[in-house]
Order: sequence, then structure tokens, then C-alpha cells
Amino acid sequence: MLLGALEGGGTKMVCAIGEEDGSIIDRITIPTRSPDETMPHIIDYFKEKMACALGIGFFGPLDLNPSSGTFGHLTATNKQDWQNYDVMGVLKNALNVPCRIDTDVNAAALGEAAYGCMRKLKNGIYITVGTGIGVGVIANGSVVHGMVHPEGGHVIVRRHPDDDFPGDCIFHKDCLEGLAAGPAIAARMHCKGQDLPADSPVWEWVSYYLAQAICDYIYILSPEKIVLGGGVMQQTQLYPMIRKHVLELLNGYVESDQIRDIDHYIVPATLNDNQAVMGCLKLAYDAALLS
Ligand code: ADP
Ligand code: ZN
Repeated sequence: MLLGALEGGGTKMVCAIGEEDGSIIDRITIPTRSPDETMPHIIDYFKEKMACALGIGFFGPLDLNPSSGTFGHLTATNKQDWQNYDVMGVLKNALNVPCRIDTDVNAAALGEAAYGCMRKLKNGIYITVGTGIGVGVIANGSVVHGMVHPEGGHVIVRRHPDDDFPGDCIFHKDCLEGLAAGPAIAARMHCKGQDLPADSPVWEWVSYYLAQAICDYIYILSPEKIVLGGGVMQQTQLYPMIRKHVLELLNGYVESDQIRDIDHYIVPATLNDNQAVMGCLKLAYDAALLS
């Protein structure tokens, strides 16, 4: 069965064809411009490749309430051209195949849960630290949606005493995303994260903030694994720093084999940056099965 996967990001759209075991057969990348400029390319690709179902992992916020009249639409995104755009409806009408949609971070969580390091687990979280911070939650074997969808990147964290950056989240200023996402690092240091040295003090601050949020997720969700991805997490020195802060902050309160083996508990994504595309293949497969 040829399945279509669309990972819709703020800067690029990845369109791929693959199979139900998560293997990717073909892919293209299209820059994200306005919907009128971008969507026809996406539609042409999936038509030409004859995808028999489509899984969509899209940047948000999205309306994912199945009983809502605007299910599958973008809502208040800061990308003006895309506000209220009916992502799901446009693709479903043009392609006339079963479709499923979720957020890009939920798709990545699903990819790791279906094909990656959370494969044998029922509870886990996937955190992306890139242009924004997003958290996909797998609980009892399914992706948590809830009232809207979780927005774990916007939790409030305690300030590091040496960090005087005010934060740049347009809603909350110094929430986790406003302090630790790629743009906050760049605004604070006047230099993109990828161009900063591994011993810059900013990594201490970023790891401290991420560790606090991770402790909150541990306390509230009790995940069996915590997987991190996104551009900022290419700074591999962050992993031991985050683990150290998590252990200090937990201070022995949560005991488990996983926490005792923290190097295998808080880990980088395992699917070669294909986790969201592979999660979209799983969404497509589920859509095909249900049709
Ligand atoms: P997006 O979140 O837009 O889908 P990414 O996950 O690639 O895409 O995140 C982009 C952000 O990550 C940018 O702010 C960029 O500066 C930052 N970034 C990318 N690569 C690195 C790196 N090697 N080290 C630190 N920051 C990085
Ligand atoms: Zn925020």
C-alpha cells in the first residue's frame, strides 16, 4: 500500500511516499510560502505518486476536535497567510483519499512510538526544541489530544540567576519556549545557536530550563521515555547537562529503573530526523484501515 506523508512546517513542507512499516520510498521538500503558492505542489506530488491515503503532521495551532465545524483547520497561527486555513479539507477534497491530521510534534511522537525508541512502551513524550518548543504525549498507547492539544512548550520555569534575557514568547515572554527555543537563544546571544561554541553559558541556561519542564512532565505524566529532537538538540552536549539537572531537581523523589538509567531515559530521537514523516505514514495507515 503506498501511503502519503506530509510534514508541514513553518519553513518547509516535506512530502513523502512510504509503507506501513515506516519505510520511506520517495520524498520532496517544498519551501512553505502562502497556501496558494504551496498547496498545489503538494497536491500534484501526492496525485502523481498515487498515494492511497494521507497522513498530515502540520504546524499549529490546529483545530483537532473531530466534532468541530472547523476540524483540521489552522487557528490563530502567527503565519498570517495560513490563519484559519482548512489544511485537511483542501487536501481531502483534492486527493479524494482517506486522510488523518495531527500536529507536527504529535506526528513525531507517533513516529517514535510506532517505529522508534518508544515502540514497546505505552507512555512517553517527544519534545522538539527548534523554532518553537512542542511536546507530543503518548499516554496508554495513544497520542493525547484533550481539550485542544497539549502545549507543553509554554510551561513556566524558574529563572536561572545568571540569565537576564527577558524572554521572547509573544504570549508569555519568559515561558520555556520564550527562554529556550532557537529564536530566544539567538536573540539573547546575538548569534544563531548553530554558530555558538559548545561551552557557551547559554547551554547551561537552556538545559536548566528544559530540565525543569521535563521534571514537570515526569511528575504529571510519568513517561517511560523522554525523546528530544529539533534543531537546538543537535547540541549534543545538552543531553548530559539536562540529565544532570533533572536528577538534581528530582532530588531522589521519583524512583524507578528508568531514572536510575537516565542515559537511556532522556534520549535523542532515533529515526534520523524522519520521526514526523514516519508518524505521518502511521497516520495514513490508520486512515486507510478505518476507511
Ligand atoms: P523548525 O522548528 O522550524 O521546524 P528546526 O527544528 O530545525 O526547525 O529548528 C530551527 C531552530 O533551531 C532555529 O532557531 C535554529 O537556529 C536552531 N538550530 C538549528 N540547528 C542548530 C544547532 N546545530 N545548534 C543550535 N541550534 C540550532
Ligand atoms: Zn509561551
